[in-house]
Formats: sequence, C-alpha cells, structure tokens
Amino acid sequence: MESVKCLFCNNESKEVFWQENGYIGRKCHNCNLIYVSPRPEEKEMALLYKIGKAGGVSTKEHINYSYGKELIAKHALSIIKKYKTRGNILEVGSGGDNF
Ligand SMILES: [Zn+2]
Repeated sequence: MESVKCLFCNNESKEVFWQENGYIGRKCHNCNLIYVSPRPEEKEMALLYKIGKAGGVSTKEHINYSYGKELIAKHALSIIKKYKTRGNILEVGSGGDNF
C-alpha cells in the first residue's frame, strides 16, 4: 500500500470522507476530489486484475452479468433524470462497472 496525494493539486488530506472494505476515501480541501489513500501499489493492482479480484468477481463473471448491469444502469439513470434531464454526467468511483 502507498499513501498518495490529490491527483490534481498535490495536496494531502487526512480527512476520512468514507471507508469501505478496508479502503479510505479522502477529500481534497482545495479541489474537492475524493481519492483513495493509502491505495494498493501498481504491482498489487495489476495482480488483483490479473487474478480477477479487482472488483470482487472475475472478469468472466462481469461479462456474464452484463444484462443485470444494464438493468442496474437503467434504474440509476431513471433516478438521475429526476434531477438532470440533459447534459453530461461523470461517474466517480465506478467500482464494479455497474453503470
Ligand atoms: Zn485537489
């Protein structure tokens, strides 16, 4: 694991914004980016993806669940459309690629 600073402005935040599965999300006080620190080093991440454990399930399982993911995405989009009917959206923290 390695400690990292904000990708955009190189500030270091000690504020814990959220915690999940042993990871800590921190919020940059300068630009409001939320990032994970400490995080797995590049070699650790490559290994997690190689063995199919980056998102909790293997790559093959992700592909097999594409219909379910599409349903989840449509449901999420229906909620978003209540608040924003046009323009672009950016998914932050895509996690298991459900959207
Ligand atoms: Zn920042």
